[in-house]
Amino acid sequence: MSDIIEALELDLVQEAATQAAAAVFAQALQPGDRIWLIGDLGAGKTTFIRALLRTLGITGPIKSPTFALVEPYAVKLLAESALSGAAEPSAGGGRRPECELYHFDFYRCEQPLEWLDAGFAEHFEPPAISAVEWPTRQAQLPPPTWQLQLTEAASGGRTLRIEARTAEAATWLRRLAVPLAEAA
Ligand code: ADP
Ligand code: MG
Repeated sequence: MSDIIEALELDLVQEAATQAAAAVFAQALQPGDRIWLIGDLGAGKTTFIRALLRTLGITGPIKSPTFALVEPYAVKLLAESALSGAAEPSAGGGRRPECELYHFDFYRCEQPLEWLDAGFAEHFEPPAISAVEWPTRQAQLPPPTWQLQLTEAASGGRTLRIEARTAEAATWLRRLAVPLAEAA
């Protein structure tokens, strides 16, 4: 398990807030990021990923990968990759890096997957981005860049805990703390 470098908790009072938080979070994504989504059935993991994919330019249908295990997407990231570099996302001129994003759901998959040895391993290697529901059902996965935990609140809304597990992710989380709070 990778270390938690920085964490942030948000109260998301309705589905629109989950979607708005995902749209802000999308700004942090970099090639090679691995996002683990923790939470019970109905917590909002797929809702979050769907909004993330919409923000990253996916206009077609977005199915939950509960049965297929994985759904692949070609996304356009919002930020230039290096935090230290001059490149801020700019109004028109900035080039948006494209990469593969693999949306996994291991809910139905308690057995260790042979196919992780047979080509799927690279879905978890840079530059691919992976977004994984129920990652704990596959013990051999590499460590995440981000761990997101969604919990149903007594009010009926959701609590989202965002954990940055790398120094670069932590820098992004500090940068996005205000817009994330405003989205909630
Ligand atoms: P999961 O993938 O975690 O099983 P889904 O995203 O499929 O969950 O379903 C989540 C459900 O919770 C949806 O019905 C969605 O409308 C609802 N939901 C998502 N975010 C919130 C929120 N912040 N407050 C209340 N309901 C929410
Ligand atoms: Mg789901």
